[in-house]
Amino acid sequence: MAAEAEARFSGAVDQQHVRAHVGEHHAAEGTRADGFEFEDLQSGERSHGRDDSFEPAMSELLKRTDRLWSGEASTAQAEFHPFAGPRLLEELAPGVAFFKAFVNVTAVKTDDGLVLVDTGAYLPASHMLSFEAVRGWNRGRLHTAVYTHGHVDHAYGLPPFLAEARERGWAAPRIVGHENVLPRMQRYVRTAGYNSIINTRQFAVETHWPVEFQAPTDTYTDHLELSVGGTRFQLHHARGETDDHTWVFLPETKTLCTGDLFIWAAPNAGNPQKVQRYAVEWAAALRAMAALNPELLLPGHGLPIAGAARVQAALLDTAAYLESLVNQTLERLNAGETLYEILEGVRPPAALAAKPYLRPVYDEPEFIVRNLWRCFGGWHSGVPSELKPSPRRAPRPGTRRALRRRRTAAGAQPRAAGGRRRANGGASGGLGGRRAA
Ligand SMILES: [Zn+2]
Repeated sequence: MAAEAEARFSGAVDQQHVRAHVGEHHAAEGTRADGFEFEDLQSGERSHGRDDSFEPAMSELLKRTDRLWSGEASTAQAEFHPFAGPRLLEELAPGVAFFKAFVNVTAVKTDDGLVLVDTGAYLPASHMLSFEAVRGWNRGRLHTAVYTHGHVDHAYGLPPFLAEARERGWAAPRIVGHENVLPRMQRYVRTAGYNSIINTRQFAVETHWPVEFQAPTDTYTDHLELSVGGTRFQLHHARGETDDHTWVFLPETKTLCTGDLFIWAAPNAGNPQKVQRYAVEWAAALRAMAALNPELLLPGHGLPIAGAARVQAALLDTAAYLESLVNQTLERLNAGETLYEILEGVRPPAALAAKPYLRPVYDEPEFIVRNLWRCFGGWHSGVPSELKPSPRRAPRPGTRRALRRRRTAAGAQPRAAGGRRRANGGASGGLGGRRAA
């Protein structure tokens, strides 16, 4: 995903907002990254406790969530799109801060330093915003970072924290991720050209795919419980948007970090230019999250959701949405329908498609069905003539062949010869805007 796109959605981070919910003590400390003093965890962080500044009722982010929930606003509006700003950090549960930007970062204060869930995007302009927002809230050593998955907007934002640790002589943070994160990062090096091209096309911003990464120092397979400074973090692996996802539950505050398994949009389970996604396991993961009765949902993109009933609705509706697409697709697949018949016939249930958090503002149910076809079957559409079709190479722009194709499409007779002219031939018409990663 191209983090450059973030620039289109929000302005600079608002330090007033960063401070809005962190109390006088922190506000007086300043926010500049280069102005930090080592904070004595013994006398500092421990003594003033975790909830001295906790004022959830003041939350600007949760007020925005209310507007979406009531239908007063919609994720179809640029301002409320899951990738939109407002680049605001708030403490939403005692010791749990959430930075909302193109991609979200959660920071948790513990007695042994900070824990991050996700780290920000790979571009310095982007990850410096989350770094400064976190440092405006708390200056304790970064103890642990958890990657919810290896996408470049979530797992490539550690450089300023690592530089800070080197400057201050702190131990480098532990980096925790699922065991499939490293193979993903290695694959991204092998496919850097492709990923640069597709993200440039998708986001209409020139993208230079990163080939340097910070691999996890600690990996796990199914579940992992971490305890940092007296705070517990329960990590659960699930395949969903990716094969390397981790969702995190903090039992003390009943806080759930979903990664991209919830992003205030129809699940990104059909992305046309990306590798296989896993809708079946995704739905199961959402149900497993709901079973823990979280009271605060902090998503990978989009606004936080507070309150057990709302969190249940968001998780279970999204699970039901995916399950419906899966079941409809399987039924038609098993009845022998072609890919195209299935695409025409499968629709998400209207009541679920109307939910404020399930609008197709990034991926589309039609694309999810295509991905399910690939998941359960092969790549062949089921139409015999498409098994070994005649060549359909897209002509290069400006060639005679491209020109002939354009004339034919416009209803003119193809000519045997023609000068070299510009034409719009090409393999792709582009996907347009931020939709359809
Ligand atoms: Zn993401």
